[in-house]
Amino acid sequence: MRIVVERDACIGAGQCVLTEPRVFRQSEEDGMVQLNTDRPAPDAVEAVETAVSLCPARALSLEP
Ligand code: SF4
Repeated sequence: MRIVVERDACIGAGQCVLTEPRVFRQSEEDGMVQLNTDRPAPDAVEAVETAVSLCPARALSLEP
């Protein structure tokens, strides 16, 4: 699985960071999402899927 971020769409709500802080973080410059990795570890996959579904801006998606 690979995480794809549409950074232009992100509104910096931080929901993804709260859901899985091992994978998502917010930029100190503009508050927008950044990835620690685009290929989450197996034990993070469920939380990443939750984060993708919760993103209010639909800025996150998954590729197989
Ligand atoms: S939940 Fe979506 S809008 Fe909020 S910081 Fe993460 S990617 Fe950006």
